[in-house]
Amino acid sequence: MAQSIRLDTVRKEFTTLGKTHVAVDDISLEIPAGSFTTLVGPSGCGKTTTLRMLAGLETPTAGRIHFGDDDVTDLPPQKRNVSMVFQSIALYPHMSVRENIGYGLKIHGVPKGKRDEKIEEAARVLQIEEQLEKMPAELSGGQQQRVALGGAFVQDPEVLLLDEPMSDLDAKLKSELRVEIQRLHQELDTTIVYVTHDQTEAMTMSDRVVLLREGHVAQFDPPRTLFHRPQSEYVASFIGTPSTNLLRCSVTDADGTATVEGHGIRVPVGSQLDAHLGNTVTLGIRPQYLSPSAGDIRFTVTAEVVEPLGTESVVHGKTTDGTRVDVVSPEVDDVQPGDELTVGFDREDCYIFGADGETICFGDDLAANQTQVP
Ligand code: ATP
Repeated sequence: MAQSIRLDTVRKEFTTLGKTHVAVDDISLEIPAGSFTTLVGPSGCGKTTTLRMLAGLETPTAGRIHFGDDDVTDLPPQKRNVSMVFQSIALYPHMSVRENIGYGLKIHGVPKGKRDEKIEEAARVLQIEEQLEKMPAELSGGQQQRVALGGAFVQDPEVLLLDEPMSDLDAKLKSELRVEIQRLHQELDTTIVYVTHDQTEAMTMSDRVVLLREGHVAQFDPPRTLFHRPQSEYVASFIGTPSTNLLRCSVTDADGTATVEGHGIRVPVGSQLDAHLGNTVTLGIRPQYLSPSAGDIRFTVTAEVVEPLGTESVVHGKTTDGTRVDVVSPEVDDVQPGDELTVGFDREDCYIFGADGETICFGDDLAANQTQVP
């Protein structure tokens, strides 16, 4: 049965040559039973260390880990009902694919008939039925990756830990396997924790995303919340491709109304930003929400590089004061490098971040206040 996972102020320090480095800094999380949670973040932010503590391969320096009601902090890996698939594929070279997938079941004494049933079911979902009697050396990297996943899935673990299991695959295989892993998750009663530095994987596969930053949780929410209601500038710029445009602006008093100004942009914001009058803030706007025909808040962008994507194009450009701005829109297909274009956005689509990087308000809060702004 899938288990919930609870981390209570879990900390992991590594000491190398007398210097202590905090890899995971007092993380607290509650991961619901049966959910698919992704740990995402830049290299070195503590994803693998967190996963290894869940597996029992690292012991926390402080804090406790619970699976359901059980405190597993001091339990070795074999005493936790956990399967883990690492980035580097670990198949037994002298065993067939069938034996590799079924090995975990065999050492747990599952009879051959039952074993074969589970192996064949996993092979069907992972589309490696034709490979079952082959040896690992006869498989492509992508097929080997599927075998490793199959071996983990057939054991029906309460908790399945996956550490960048698709990092070596090409884009097409990755997108296929993304769907297959989700399908397997729907069929199994297991809690999945998945580590990736690829935010597209995090956003498309999981029901919850933990975005880490230097050992801290920057935000733990469903993907849509991370995308639409980022708690900080860091979250807004990490989640979404291309990154959220970040425009430094000042909060001025325009005839008694607090107004965010900069780069030729003027956004009357009303009382929400009264406390920030005279300060610098950052206006965040996603490239997908900018277009020549959108919105009543408008400014000029000089195009530098244009990337056609088929159904839309990406313009990489600069504002009048040289800040980088990306625009993603079907309306910019004909733009050439050097062109000046006026783009606009609706205030409900922007975010305002304070000088400390935390979100002051979301555009829809501003829009709700719009009627009060002259
Ligand atoms: P990546 O995406 O590059 O795999 P990550 O987010 O998984 O990164 P971790 O591998 O968890 O990051 O590492 C977090 C920090 O802890 C890094 O600064 C790393 O150098 C350090 N670290 C990890 N394992 C050890 C170790 N065994 N000894 C010393 N430092 C370590």
